[in-house]
Amino acid sequence: MKIDILTLFPEMFSGVLGSSILKKAAEKEAVSYNVVNFREFSNDKHKTVDDYPYGGGAGMVLKPQPIFDAVEYLKKDFNTDPRIVLLCPQGETYTQKKAEELANEEHLIFICGHYEGYDERIREHLVSDEISIGDYVLTGGELGAMVVIDSVVRLLPGVLGNDDSPIYDSFSSGLLEHPHYTRPAEFRGMKVPEVLLSGNHKKINEWREAESLKRTKTRRPDLLEKYLIEQNKKDKNLE
Ligand code: SAM
Repeated sequence: MKIDILTLFPEMFSGVLGSSILKKAAEKEAVSYNVVNFREFSNDKHKTVDDYPYGGGAGMVLKPQPIFDAVEYLKKDFNTDPRIVLLCPQGETYTQKKAEELANEEHLIFICGHYEGYDERIREHLVSDEISIGDYVLTGGELGAMVVIDSVVRLLPGVLGNDDSPIYDSFSSGLLEHPHYTRPAEFRGMKVPEVLLSGNHKKINEWREAESLKRTKTRRPDLLEKYLIEQNKKDKNLE
């Protein structure tokens, strides 16, 4: 996968892309990152990227020209169309399902906004996806892009030590994951559930499934409702 990131603050990405699993993923050549300052694409002599909003009002608006030109430049070496993701509080709320969808792509371009927002023509005529990472407003799209990139790259084949592990993560199955314990079996009087020490894998799996359902019911009843509807549909199709 090739990931291009358009930002006015490229230095923000070095820590995240240069550490831990995201760094290893690039070393293993599962992904390559290219962080681009779209100011370089501005065609005026002051390298301006923003301007006052038509009609007046607070804040500056990102101009279309530098962003359109940067995206066209980044697309030119590819035969297939990239997914062009605009980070934006007005976009669809990001989910694990969306991460799984993006993980199937060959080329992703992220556009990180700043200031008051984007010229609407970027939204209407350039991007394929608008993603919000939650119902709150950040100063820029960089943290949002990092969130999306982290969650996508860990799904790429060969990136995690155990390829199966994303399958059991919260949200992948539609439920929250079961609790985990490690040694010691007793810590300050707090004990690990007996069943996990039993060595009986059937019982351990039953316990994990039950805990996963219980946890989802108490913490995210909305997810449990969706999960049960899906299960019902699957059961009907098998009949
Ligand atoms: N005026 C805009 C609005 O009300 O929709 C908010 C602009 S915000 C200050 C500047 C930039 O931060 C946005 O263009 C976007 O790139 C990014 N951003 C802010 N909140 C975000 C969120 N929840 N998810 C993703 N990106 C966000």
